[in-house]
Amino acid sequence: MKTLTILGSTGSIGQQALEVVEHYHRDVRLGFLTTNSNVELLCAQVERYQPYGVAIRSEEAYHRFRQLSSFRGPILCGSEGICQAAAWSSCDIVLSALVGFAGVAPTLAAIEAGKTIALANKETLVVAGKLITTTARQRNVPILAVDSEHSAIVQCLIGEQPEAIERIVLTASGGPFRKLPLDALDRVTPEQALQHPTWSMGAKITIDSATLMNKGFEVIEAHWLFGLQPDQIEVLIHPQSIVHSLVEFCDGSVKAQLGVPDMRLPIHYALTYPRRLPTQLPRIAWADLHVLEFEQPDVARFPCLRIALEALRAGGTAPAVVNAANEVAVEAFLTKQITFTDIPRVIERTLDAMLVDEQTSLPALIELDRQARLRARDVVSQLSRPL
Ligand code: NAD
Ligand code: MG
Repeated sequence: MKTLTILGSTGSIGQQALEVVEHYHRDVRLGFLTTNSNVELLCAQVERYQPYGVAIRSEEAYHRFRQLSSFRGPILCGSEGICQAAAWSSCDIVLSALVGFAGVAPTLAAIEAGKTIALANKETLVVAGKLITTTARQRNVPILAVDSEHSAIVQCLIGEQPEAIERIVLTASGGPFRKLPLDALDRVTPEQALQHPTWSMGAKITIDSATLMNKGFEVIEAHWLFGLQPDQIEVLIHPQSIVHSLVEFCDGSVKAQLGVPDMRLPIHYALTYPRRLPTQLPRIAWADLHVLEFEQPDVARFPCLRIALEALRAGGTAPAVVNAANEVAVEAFLTKQITFTDIPRVIERTLDAMLVDEQTSLPALIELDRQARLRARDVVSQLSRPL
């Protein structure tokens, strides 16, 4: 029996993970389930999956849960409660599926407590890649990739020598605006941006996929997970989302991992790694798959990809500033304070106003995140004010 805690069980990844556990992992017991404030769903999850405990970040939601639920296990509250759940002594694996910067502290707490990490929350590596990977090495903690591209790379690398990798290619669907005329981009609505062509995901990552910031973050994630240099990691647009990523080796040979675009597959693989266990998840209908297209991303259309790659090259705290400004900008776009094309503007103007430093400790990163958000909110209010 293994015990699994799911940080962010009410999110898109969290819900799919519970489904995978229910169907395919009879040998997994649930430790803590956590939510920001979705108490109604958490109540339903507690009834159905009977975890050991729950943690709820919002205090108001915590009190609501206590009124609504007759749950008898531990009920933790606040960001501190989420970190305690992450570090709970009797757990073996922690699925980090919070969204954004909020994932950094609990993921670090789980690593410090020696838990195996199944990592969906890529922002953790964007913000604190050095701190996270150094701590994981010191504690001998494996970080298993849940992101589909990185799961694909892991699968391609089995049986290979790290020094035989020439480069890797991360594929990107290109999002809903891949072919929209450039001059129409500043008029797209949040509703349009939330219509992803191939994947169904939480709101923030769906917007990041439309700007390609998601792919930029995934390059940073791959840098930390696989120890590759920035120029060994390429991005290609692949609208069908069937080839999840590929590795080119020094002899010219290429390995790719393919599958239907369904996050339950990489979640399941992270839970069975390094074994493969059967599922009834959808199969590729090969005869219906007439084309697999690949093309270079257009950086004029997707400035967020360029910004993320430049931040990786700049190193230190630059990616953390990009992450903070991006979170503020995406939220401002979703609430219609700024346009879609303002998102990269907010990030670049925030970067211009901040000094890049070395990544040091969690408290330093928390303070940096706070300052970058303040700066980004200033830029949002300048952009949203009619001239
Ligand atoms: P989501 O918005 O659907 O869910 C986020 C979860 O985190 C929810 O349970 C929410 O209650 C919780 N949460 C949000 N803010 C919080 C806070 N401040 N404190 C504590 N809990 C908080 O997000 P998602 O789409 O499931 O994505 C989760 C992570 O996985 C992201 O980092 C995303 O980039 C990554 N990811 C998602 C997918 C996908 O298909 N959804 C694919 C690859 C990677
Ligand atoms: Mg991905």
